[in-house]
Amino acid sequence: MRRKLAAGNWKMNGTGAALGALEAIAAAHPAPSVDILICPPATLLSRAAHALADSAVDLGGQDCHAETSGAHTGDISAAMLADAGARAVILGHSERRADHAETDAQVCAKTRAALEAGLMAVVCIGETLEQREAGQTLDVVCGQLAASLPDGIDGARVVVAYEPVWAIGTGKVPTLEQIAEVHDALRGQLLGRFGAETGSAIRLLYGGSVKPGNAAEIFAVSNVDGALVGGASLNAADFSPIIRALE
Ligand code: PGA
Repeated sequence: MRRKLAAGNWKMNGTGAALGALEAIAAAHPAPSVDILICPPATLLSRAAHALADSAVDLGGQDCHAETSGAHTGDISAAMLADAGARAVILGHSERRADHAETDAQVCAKTRAALEAGLMAVVCIGETLEQREAGQTLDVVCGQLAASLPDGIDGARVVVAYEPVWAIGTGKVPTLEQIAEVHDALRGQLLGRFGAETGSAIRLLYGGSVKPGNAAEIFAVSNVDGALVGGASLNAADFSPIIRALE
């Protein structure tokens, strides 16, 4: 049985003043029946790890380099994230794919690096509106999934987040049937490639405009094991009801 996961992606939001929001989320869920992960900017990780040391909230990064160290100005390795207190890292988010031209092959290399550093990898995939309207959604997401995950993975430490690009930060969400269609296809592909044990252990999150008002219906969709939440993860007033809808 897969444990549900409520994951928050803070993107480029939050300075020290935002630690209070993290503490409020942790305080509202002292003993959750689901996993809670928040990925603040890397600059906050160490302080957040200190503030949340005794809490049930795990911390994650939002990207890592595929190499362990070296001449890569501005980059951060998976081991550095782990050292700063991260237990996980988001990889291949559509904003990184768009802003930094990240390819599936790079996401795959980063995923391998994250797993080798002991982190859980939250690998993001999703189609653009143009691709959906052209009827290419399943081809696109299944292609991204195939090329973004390395072989020989521990399914318990890999999470796949299906995030339609057109649903991120827009207030638009796919229909529940559309979410089910994609998640069922992804599960089928994972089972086919990795076998029953690993393929059924990998958690599948939906992401894109998840809010308190739509979380429960999305969580009832088959093969949805939780959510990757952007804007609504920035404060306890929005994120807490989403976590509760998953419990
Ligand atoms: P959103 O972002 O919840 O603000 O739409 C989700 C994401 O980009 O992970």
